[in-house]
Amino acid sequence: MKRIPVAGPWITDLEVDLVTRAVREAWYEGAGDYHARFEAAFAAFTGRRFAMALPSCTSALHLALAALGIGPGDEVIVPDITWIATAAPITYVGATPVFADIDPDTWCLSPASVEACLSPRTRAVIAVDLYGQMPDMAALSELARRHRIALVEDAAQAVGSAFDGRPAGAFGDVSAFSFHGSKTLTTGEGGMWLTDREDLHARALTLRDHGRPPGDRLFYNTEVAFKYRMSAMQAALGLAQLQRVDELVAKKRQIFEWYRSGLSATSGVSLNRPAPGTESGYWMVTALLDPRLGIEKGQLMERLAAEGIDSRPLFHPLSSLPAYRDCSAARDARARNNMAYSLSPWGVNLPSALCLTEEDVARVCDCLKRIVAAR
Ligand SMILES: *Cc1c(COP(=O)(O)O)cnc(C)c1O
Repeated sequence: MKRIPVAGPWITDLEVDLVTRAVREAWYEGAGDYHARFEAAFAAFTGRRFAMALPSCTSALHLALAALGIGPGDEVIVPDITWIATAAPITYVGATPVFADIDPDTWCLSPASVEACLSPRTRAVIAVDLYGQMPDMAALSELARRHRIALVEDAAQAVGSAFDGRPAGAFGDVSAFSFHGSKTLTTGEGGMWLTDREDLHARALTLRDHGRPPGDRLFYNTEVAFKYRMSAMQAALGLAQLQRVDELVAKKRQIFEWYRSGLSATSGVSLNRPAPGTESGYWMVTALLDPRLGIEKGQLMERLAAEGIDSRPLFHPLSSLPAYRDCSAARDARARNNMAYSLSPWGVNLPSALCLTEEDVARVCDCLKRIVAAR
């Protein structure tokens, strides 16, 4: 029986051709060509002024906090439900993460909870477009403006999503994408930094190159900083994937639609749905089981695995993880974030890899229905 993978890319000859050209040509005077093309194309895709290709989304978020000058004594608000890469860079710069609750409909950062988490030390909010859903970006942008704090959009999971007609990645002082192999658009490993602010972009260009200001020819470092670049081969892969982005996102939407129709008559199982006024790129189809079924996410994953179906748990609240055991803000979050704690035990990401066929999805739906019916 073929194993059904949970996530993975769609690579065609176009990608192979461009990467092959890059490995032959992108040296000497051509060394930066593919980066420049990928960055320009990605800036246009998101409507941003500046783009910078990076080795990961984690490094983009790290640079965002560093370029904003956030450090020890500062607090940064993040949703309690997200991948730890959203929050880890807060610790890298010596600041303190504050975990806010999620909205019951979007599963993304709740603006009301952010408001409740503000303190005189709050310097920034990182909003996450979870599984391709979008938080209320209008409310979060307004809140950030009103309190004079920075807004960063972690759009790692949101290629193809939109809020109020504006694409994911268009929001906040800085936004960041991931091109990890599990993401909709991949470069193997990789990320993108985006901003409209010239001051932040100039700062990040220096910070990502060991403290060398752009144009430095003398290897005269002005500070101790970081080394964050992707290779030309990765940039070529990203450029080819971006040329096919409509096709990639259409396949994700098709996969969601197969699940939606396959599970529509199954009571007790609901899927992630975008809120009104937003569109989802459906990075991961996520099933939320009615707690009355009594099937926790770990049990469901085990039963799916027994039938050759890979899945992932809906993120555990960050404040519940051993990684934040000694963080006092995590203690407060555990008491405050009812929605994060009540949804997280019952959610599972279903296989959403770009290689899936309609038959694969039918097999997953069939298996899920049998598990639910057996209760
Ligand atoms: C994948 C992901 C990241 C990290 O991306 P990397 O490229 O692996 O660093 C950050 N945030 C979210 C929400 C992600 O899903």
